[in-house]
Amino acid sequence: MNIQTIMVIGAGQMGSGIAQVAAASGFHVLLHDTTPEFLNRGMQAINKQLSRNVEKGKLTPESMAEIVSRIRPTEFVEHAEQADFVIEAISENMALKALLFHRLDSLCPPRTILATNTSSLPISEIAAVTGRPEKIIGMHFMNPVPVMPLVEVIRGLETSQEVFEVVYGLSQRMGKTPVEVNDFPGFVSNRILMPMINEAIFTVYEGVASIESVDKVMKFGMNHPMGPLELADFIGLDTCLSIMEILYDGFKDSKYRPCPLLRKYVKAGRLGRKSGQGFYTYQE
Ligand code: NAD
Repeated sequence: MNIQTIMVIGAGQMGSGIAQVAAASGFHVLLHDTTPEFLNRGMQAINKQLSRNVEKGKLTPESMAEIVSRIRPTEFVEHAEQADFVIEAISENMALKALLFHRLDSLCPPRTILATNTSSLPISEIAAVTGRPEKIIGMHFMNPVPVMPLVEVIRGLETSQEVFEVVYGLSQRMGKTPVEVNDFPGFVSNRILMPMINEAIFTVYEGVASIESVDKVMKFGMNHPMGPLELADFIGLDTCLSIMEILYDGFKDSKYRPCPLLRKYVKAGRLGRKSGQGFYTYQE
């Protein structure tokens, strides 16, 4: 399959990272979000990240300009009809994703593969709202996308072998290490990571230790590069809560119940780094 233009939907932290990596790998990229403000924020994040690479001498200013010129921001989802491949990276919400995939299915030519970067939602359920379940697949990048090598490649029940191979190869062309996993809530990465983060939040909630102490224990005792609460803020507390809800709902096992403190923070608008406040406070 000849992929030249990739559309990335959602210009948040994941979508902007995916757009950057795709453009740096030579693809033309259409980056879509709902408002110019969100698109600007996404393009600013890409410029900031690439400028850092220029400052460090890892990238020339000319190469940076070329990468940026390959990304075309658009408010119009209708531009999906021009894409050879679509990667969705909107908020972790089944209703929103189902609406979007239904729309994409009606806009895109039958050959177009529609991939989702969902962290935990069932691929087969997303596929079921389209008339092309064999062309729906999970392509789960890690955060931050330009830095982390892993891509979990998740087949839905109907995903074809050909589509699986295209996505596996595309991940490699983007400089990533693809790993095949099955379609179960949270796949592998978040089935293991998120309960650990949730348990760290319970540890604070139950007064066992302070936020800083929990993070210190895991950094200095377990050699984790970031403490679990720092990492939760980085991922986004809304995303963490959504994933815990999906695990709890999917397995009906109480070990996945989200900590009430996590729910309280999300309800209060404390979403972590992206809102300026989570377990820690962030200045721009
Ligand atoms: P985010 O909140 O930073 O960005 C989401 C973006 O999607 C926002 O800019 C929002 O305006 C946009 N959006 C929402 N609905 C839309 C629609 N219908 N059409 C177009 N744009 C829409 O979220 P994020 O952290 O980038 O996460 C995006 C996806 O990636 C989620 O499915 C999440 O589970 C997954 N993911 C997140 C991480 C992480 O560490 N944050 C890691 C891997 C995967």
